[in-house]
Amino acid sequence: MLQEFFNDLIAKVKYNKMLQQFNPKNKDIQVFVKEGLCHRKDAKVSVFDSSVQGGDAVWEGLRVYKGGIFCLDKHLERLYASAKSLAFTDIPDLSFIKNAVFDTLKANAMKDDVHIRLTLTRGEKITSGMDPRLNQNGSCLIVLAEWKPLVYDNDNGIKVITAHIQRNTPKHLDSKIHHANLLNNILAKIQANVAGKDAALMLDAYGFVAELNGTNLFMVKNNILYTPHADACLHGITRGLIIQIAKDNGIELVEKNLSLTEFYTADEVFCTGTMGELTPVIEIDGRIIENRNKSELLPFLQELFTAVIPEYSEPLPF
Ligand code: PMP
Repeated sequence: MLQEFFNDLIAKVKYNKMLQQFNPKNKDIQVFVKEGLCHRKDAKVSVFDSSVQGGDAVWEGLRVYKGGIFCLDKHLERLYASAKSLAFTDIPDLSFIKNAVFDTLKANAMKDDVHIRLTLTRGEKITSGMDPRLNQNGSCLIVLAEWKPLVYDNDNGIKVITAHIQRNTPKHLDSKIHHANLLNNILAKIQANVAGKDAALMLDAYGFVAELNGTNLFMVKNNILYTPHADACLHGITRGLIIQIAKDNGIELVEKNLSLTEFYTADEVFCTGTMGELTPVIEIDGRIIENRNKSELLPFLQELFTAVIPEYSEPLPF
């Protein structure tokens, strides 16, 4: 009986279309780990590293567009804020991190259509254990740049389900820290996989909508743009930019507690994030987002977002 249940579960997870596949172009990429570059097969951290011992690391996901890194300073600011909140010591300075990022892109001749996973771990411990005082070898910077198109299908959109597991409030592990301890989001994603959907919607401790497992959420009703307060979601950089773009273009924007009912009955719903830019959400828990009011705000925001990319990108020095 139990075996049958697990076989069924594995089959469902296996045959649900994955959003990402291995890209052979990334077969021989160079990766920066702590002090320098190496081939991906040698890009490793120690078993004593804090990321292995406790998911004790902070990270950023960045995109490279046409010779520039989008919102580089904003991402580095958030990386430093996350590291400070977790009381990291021996953090590399700004020029070290920027040079490591530029060197990695240069070594791989990458100028466009690239995603960078920038990770800073608390570093190697002298013996296994939780105590950060065991970290006596400095923090460890990893720059993983890969050829990667946008992860979501922004023309056709994504379908989501609500997960049973909640996003953290500041009382638990503050969602404003962009840490690598991602298990509650991973559990939510597993639920979406099992249900055959693309992503999981996560609620906050009160049952209001927080975000998707890897992106922020917006909805439109009667030409007003709404997004949840950033209390139980990551204060996404794309989210912040959309709020700015809305203000600059006279689009009414309201940040408030939003329930699932409000999302089910919205005219348009979309998610935002570095991995997919602005992506329509076309179904939530089996409810089709119907858009009876013929709202067209999302395509307009997508256009405005694309237009500001060069302005917010730091040019590559090579
Ligand atoms: N929410 C979560 C949980 C995320 O992990 C991310 C991206 N890492 C986002 C939202 C989107 O943030 P950003 O726009 O800064 O990429």
